[in-house]
Amino acid sequence: MKAQLRHIYYKYIAPKALVLMYHRVAEPESDVWEVAVSSANFEQQLQVLKQYYRVVPLKEMVERLKNGVVERNTIAITFDDGYVDNYQTAKPLLEKYCLPATFFITSGNVGQQKEFWWDELEHLILFSESLPAVMDLEVAGASIAFNLEEEAQLTQSLRQQHKAWKSCEQEPPSKRSLLFYRLWEKLKPLPVSEQQAALQKIRDWAGAAASARPDCRSMSREELKDLGQGELFDLGAHTVSHAALAYHAPQFQEKEIEENKCFLEEIAQKRIDLLTYPYGNYNNETMAIAERVAFAAAFTTEEKAVIRNANRYRLGRFQVKNMAAPEFKKQLQLWKYSI
Ligand SMILES: [Zn+2]
Repeated sequence: MKAQLRHIYYKYIAPKALVLMYHRVAEPESDVWEVAVSSANFEQQLQVLKQYYRVVPLKEMVERLKNGVVERNTIAITFDDGYVDNYQTAKPLLEKYCLPATFFITSGNVGQQKEFWWDELEHLILFSESLPAVMDLEVAGASIAFNLEEEAQLTQSLRQQHKAWKSCEQEPPSKRSLLFYRLWEKLKPLPVSEQQAALQKIRDWAGAAASARPDCRSMSREELKDLGQGELFDLGAHTVSHAALAYHAPQFQEKEIEENKCFLEEIAQKRIDLLTYPYGNYNNETMAIAERVAFAAAFTTEEKAVIRNANRYRLGRFQVKNMAAPEFKKQLQLWKYSI
């Protein structure tokens, strides 16, 4: 009975430990996935964390979890993907408040003047001044036929709609945004070579050159080195090409994870034993690989707090949106008592 009550208390009543997920500290032209937080809001969020919570390195939280311990009111901060703003904007603010964070890096774009395919696609479809009205393309063996009609020309009103669009909460507000979403769904499961081939077809169709906006690039080797070798920060694995792992064979998954781990260990001169699954996408084989190649834990994007006895290869995280202190404070309360 006592054990049962304790179980109920920890599962339903006790405040829980949380892992927060960030991607960018920036103000991009649009943010359809709600992954960017402005630097002003990020600083306010750090002030809330500093004042009300104990922010611990993720590796420390995982270490305790391995021993069956979850400390209340603790929070770990994570960043995914490896955008340059993590280095230029987030790092100085984290240092100002002396808060630790773990940065999960997709290594394929490190040091290149290249955007992630999803950023380029978003820019191309939502913000090109002029596109051909009709798309009729073969992408990964499927044909995509679409008519943009009057939206071939970008208007001020379309631009505003695209700037404000949050795809997780709202239907696509325009034909262009619907086309973007369909293409995104088609490209997401593909291996990187096919994604790039499809993107090239889309660029050719649009009459556009490859876009390489400086603020959308990944960190360079030097920046990663500086970040990874610092006291306050750790690097973590996030695959070579940001592969949606569950769509691929185990051998491919293992290669993506292992090569990324080796690359980052060489840069950080530290062991890399934490992993986050790109798009939060994984299957049983992914979890088995993560365990086999000696990761201490792996994280999804499922919104769940860290509880005792949780499976360490599918731990949850909470995506922090672009909100100021009062809203963030309330949000943390809800998350901390979530089941
Ligand atoms: Zn990612």
